[in-house]
Amino acid sequence: MMDRVKQLREAGENVIGLATGTPDFDTPAYIKEAGKAAIDEDRTYITYTQSAGLPELREAIATKLVRENNVRVTPDEILVTIGVKQGLFTAAQACLNPGDEVLIPTPTWVTYAACVTLAGAVPVFVPCRKEKSFRPDPEELARHITPRTRMIMLNSPGNPAGGVITSAAMLGIAELATKHDLLVLSDEIYEHMVFDDHRHISIASLPGMGERTLTLNGLSKTYAMTGWRVGYVAGPRQVLRNMQKIHSHSVTCACAFAQKAAAVALNGPQDDLRSYISTLASRRTQLIAGLNSIPGVKCGPPDGGIFCFPDISGLGISDRECSSVFLENAKVSTLPGSDFGPGGEGHLRLNFARREARDLDTAIERLIAARAKI
Ligand code: PLP
Repeated sequence: MMDRVKQLREAGENVIGLATGTPDFDTPAYIKEAGKAAIDEDRTYITYTQSAGLPELREAIATKLVRENNVRVTPDEILVTIGVKQGLFTAAQACLNPGDEVLIPTPTWVTYAACVTLAGAVPVFVPCRKEKSFRPDPEELARHITPRTRMIMLNSPGNPAGGVITSAAMLGIAELATKHDLLVLSDEIYEHMVFDDHRHISIASLPGMGERTLTLNGLSKTYAMTGWRVGYVAGPRQVLRNMQKIHSHSVTCACAFAQKAAAVALNGPQDDLRSYISTLASRRTQLIAGLNSIPGVKCGPPDGGIFCFPDISGLGISDRECSSVFLENAKVSTLPGSDFGPGGEGHLRLNFARREARDLDTAIERLIAARAKI
């Protein structure tokens, strides 16, 4: 898909890219300035940092976790990673043994299963019900537990379908993890993108969960910093110590000046974040309405995240065909839902995190025209 988008763009086509998970926003100016100043002003920020991360960033993360998530950890229970993705890979390498089973609610971001497999463990897909807005459900998770189950991977709000786990379900999952002595890996990268009455809950904040939860988060989506590559993992000291060994021998540390900018982002005023989230909320409303105006397409409101995940089965073609037709004939890139595992078939994923509202209007006009020719 991405290769084809590139080809079309090189041939001069104006492709509206709604396929990737990149927010089409700029990193706030004060964060960019902090990164530039760090390079110019202090050698600390152009040399290796402590492998676990700059102390000032780990302090900032610990403060943020208390302030926003009610999660209490000390800076030595935090590892700064090269984005959430490297945190996930390292966590899987540190915690999983060959043959361990890991429960992954689906549809799911593909990297989870890949990291599990790369660690020699076995991804076990647990379908989320569409009628329940694709929110993970403790009863369904319980049905997939075996003596080999070692970990549950959560992503709330979720990619691709946006499900936000309710507080009752979160308590149910915590109970399950405790009863079966499971680790929980909680990827909270979309924590601020929650809409309507939904509320993000960090499972590590629930009683007894701090000792069995790895909380993963990062700056990529919240501060539009995908290319800066800063993320972090917070969790039990012994697990973090093992992760740190892998981290130190594989990557040494995350980029020093990006870590400084990340500390400034977390400690700084959060006004840019508030206006960004309110723009996202209106883009979400706009894209939902636009998609529902296409005959044969049904789009419910995602609880959170930055994607719409409409049902396109009414068009009479598969999601892969549909994504391809929309790219070739409308010059709008989307991802087919079946890329996201069981339950994703018959859907498309479209990113609504666009700076310009008119991009989404144009995309919808083109999709309507392309749909008329299917
Ligand atoms: N987690 C989820 C659920 C994502 O959708 C993505 C990116 O699309 C990531 C993590 C990657 O985050 P990072 O840029 O911090 O590696």
